[in-house]
Amino acid sequence: MPAYKRVLVAIDLTEEAPQVLDKAKAVCEAHHAELMLMHVVEPVGYAYGGDIPMDLSELQDQLDKAAREQLHTYGSRYGVAAERQVVTVGRPESEIHRVSQEFGVDLVVVGSHGRKGFQLLLGSTANGVLHGTECDVLAVRIH
Ligand code: AMP
Repeated sequence: MPAYKRVLVAIDLTEEAPQVLDKAKAVCEAHHAELMLMHVVEPVGYAYGGDIPMDLSELQDQLDKAAREQLHTYGSRYGVAAERQVVTVGRPESEIHRVSQEFGVDLVVVGSHGRKGFQLLLGSTANGVLHGTECDVLAVRIH
């Protein structure tokens, strides 16, 4: 099997993130690949159906900034330089797809809760990434 060259790990910044990061790091070490780190901030307006008569840009900026800081902390812990840390705003699935293409990534690593039955119908980020991304996808089971 050819070695992976550039691995993108997408994290949701919850307490589950280290499980996903640990696996991504291990794959990178085994393949001597470069590791990229990303987080997608969901647009604030979405929660209100985009219909709230208020300027939310300041709140969005604050969320962005907080996400950047948290990603930076993970970056330092896992040895990922600032230029390989990406924070974007949008839908996680489509942003992960877009960034993986833009940076010529050959493996995307995400967490997966192994949903069953009805929950499966509701979909998950891992599912969305698997169906929208052209490169390989590693779904790390969250315990
Ligand atoms: P979920 O299906 O939302 O429970 O998320 C499963 C996995 O998708 C997480 O462990 C992350 O790898 C990825 N993910 C979910 N939300 C985001 C996000 N906002 N930014 C980056 N990755 C995410």
